[in-house]
Amino acid sequence: MPGRYTMQERLAGWGPQGQARLAGSTVVVLGMGGLGGAAAMLLSRAGVGRLRLVDPDRVALDNLHRQLLYDEADASQAAPKAQAAARHLGGINSEITLEAIAEEFQAGNGRELLEGADLALDCLDRPQPRFVLNELCVELGLPWVHAGVVAAQGQVLVLRPGLTPCLRCWFPEPGEPALTSAHDGILGPAAAMLASLQASEALKLLLGREESLLAGMLVARLWPPSFHEVRFNRGDQEPCPVCGY
Ligand SMILES: [Zn+2]
Repeated sequence: MPGRYTMQERLAGWGPQGQARLAGSTVVVLGMGGLGGAAAMLLSRAGVGRLRLVDPDRVALDNLHRQLLYDEADASQAAPKAQAAARHLGGINSEITLEAIAEEFQAGNGRELLEGADLALDCLDRPQPRFVLNELCVELGLPWVHAGVVAAQGQVLVLRPGLTPCLRCWFPEPGEPALTSAHDGILGPAAAMLASLQASEALKLLLGREESLLAGMLVARLWPPSFHEVRFNRGDQEPCPVCGY
């Protein structure tokens, strides 16, 4: 009889060894909205052994068009997202460990929230905490995957300190609009698509499949559709103040 993970273990280069690697991995998901909820759902279904779910907010009715993890009961109770996410994900996969942390990721608690992680997912919705995460990951040597979504468009980046440019290299201006999901609305399928792309890069990192990783920044738009990968070019800019690249 096929096991729980048979269909993904059949994927080339995965097998029971890959599955064991996932089971032994810890991923911190920062932000449990449209990106984080869907990405965490994919990683929990894939059998990532420990997920730390971080978000200070509560579920509201205007979240439901794009935040796949939550339902009307969560919204009517204004349930804390971290706890509601852990409850739903525990119903999807009871074999993994879920930590719900209803805190805002910031400089003061960032190091503690990243403790023991193999990987972090940036599913935040503002530039400032993303740059806090960037600096901490450079300092700790922790790989992470950034995703952002605005309206019907978003971008994904794999960041490996010492091996790739950092977020500041890509976005030297602190007010970069691509890092803020705010006033232009969000297309539900765009958030789910970016979360899928992010989860896919996360699985490659956890499985040690570096040869398959996204090399540049994937910019994906659904309405009208276009996908393209931007390669990093330092040009004649000064070296990065954060990572020195
Ligand atoms: Zn940099």
